[in-house]
Amino acid sequence: MKIYNTLSRKIEDFHSIDDRKVKMYSCGPTVYGYAHIGNFRAFVFADILKRYLRYRGYRVFHVMNITDVDDKTIKNSMKEGKTLHDFTRFYENAFLEDLKSLSIDMPDKMPRATEHVADMLALVEQLTRKKHTYRQNGSVYFRISSFKGYGKLAGLDRQKLRENADGRLVDSDEYEKEDARDFALWKACSPDDGDIHWESPIGKGRPGWHIECSAMSMKYLGEHFDIHTGGIDLCFPHHTNEIAQSEAATGKKFVNYWLHNEHLIVNGQKMAKSAGNYFTLRDLLDKGHLPRMIRYELLSAHYRQKLDFREKDLSEAAANLQRFDELFAKLDAAKGKGNSAFRKLIDEARNGFESAMDNDLNTAGALNALFVFVREINKIVEELSKEEAAQVKAVLLDFDSVLCVLKQEQITVPQDVIDLAEERKQAREKKDWKRSDELRDEIKRKGYMVDDTKQDYIIKKIRGFLVQAWFQT
Ligand code: AMP
Ligand code: ZN
Repeated sequence: MKIYNTLSRKIEDFHSIDDRKVKMYSCGPTVYGYAHIGNFRAFVFADILKRYLRYRGYRVFHVMNITDVDDKTIKNSMKEGKTLHDFTRFYENAFLEDLKSLSIDMPDKMPRATEHVADMLALVEQLTRKKHTYRQNGSVYFRISSFKGYGKLAGLDRQKLRENADGRLVDSDEYEKEDARDFALWKACSPDDGDIHWESPIGKGRPGWHIECSAMSMKYLGEHFDIHTGGIDLCFPHHTNEIAQSEAATGKKFVNYWLHNEHLIVNGQKMAKSAGNYFTLRDLLDKGHLPRMIRYELLSAHYRQKLDFREKDLSEAAANLQRFDELFAKLDAAKGKGNSAFRKLIDEARNGFESAMDNDLNTAGALNALFVFVREINKIVEELSKEEAAQVKAVLLDFDSVLCVLKQEQITVPQDVIDLAEERKQAREKKDWKRSDELRDEIKRKGYMVDDTKQDYIIKKIRGFLVQAWFQT
């Protein structure tokens, strides 16, 4: 399996540190509002990576932090007159619900920043002992000139960095750092922070954002681990600073593979809260779209390509998913005499799926391999025996252990809709077509469709662009 490593700017073979075990860290959400689907592109990507590693036989230990203290969480909790705790827990819970909706596997550990301040302080102390820090007005800064190799991840040239920084230092009299790119490890207590601060040997204050991820990742994964993920915007300064802090403190290489997803964009611009051009997952579900349509859309492009989000594209996602749903229904109903051609199709599909995913997690290619498979299987599905159909279905479900878009949500049809469908069936038996049509309309008003089959009928649920089958009497 090959993945693109931002650190080397190359597609590399993946080798884990510990034979079949992978340790992976993902920068998690800042919980000051509902996450938008741009954020979920990052989390779906990390999920795909994790699930594919598992598909390839690795055991994965996954840590994702919750940023529950920073400028935005403090400012917004004060604006709403809530404690930081209550405010951030609300959005953390919403985030966990959204992860479930999108079939994102729960990380093994989700440490909160506010519960790891002691670990962050210990790391700051370690850096101070090694002379990588300085104090200024009660805050503690990391001195980037003390760390050789600063900026390597983001491809920054150190000399240029200094030149820029010098320029900025001259421009600003308020600058309290030695170098404009130096960053705060510990921020002195400020009136803007209300009562949010921690007592510490280095004074009252709160941790900087970057130290949070270094401290929590190393606490749960060790000083040297396999994979770190995040959106491309985190490459600099966040991940660049994480590397500087962690490697300066331990003297060891921090992370082997850095993986960054490109942005979800809207009309050429990054989807962002600040730009106001975003949809939360909840916005889209309220409009009747299904979570798996959104997950499908997010993985329909390779993760290192920008993906333009247009709501209308969800109808295409729905149509594609419907093709799988219909094939599943046919496979479930199969009772043909048998056609062994399916074996070759399975081999080809597995080949196509795996070679796409092995090639830097090319989900678009993997989906393509699945479409070819569906098209070819459809040609012979009526001939398949029950056992053969079960094998085809098992292969699709195996692919879906990674993609998680094929399985339909279980639907329960309300009793009143079933009663109407029953009444309609009786009307049809009496050839009362007028009544039968009226009942069909009434069923439709309730969000369902009824399709007649030779013996009976199927009730389907209409949700967003997707007609969700199948309830069969
Ligand atoms: P935040 O909650 O702002 O810390 O962001 C959580 C994750 O979402 C980070 O990995 C970001 O890089 C990522 N992210 C933010 N906006 C986008 C976007 N428009 N497309 C893809 N990833 C994003
Ligand atoms: Zn982080």
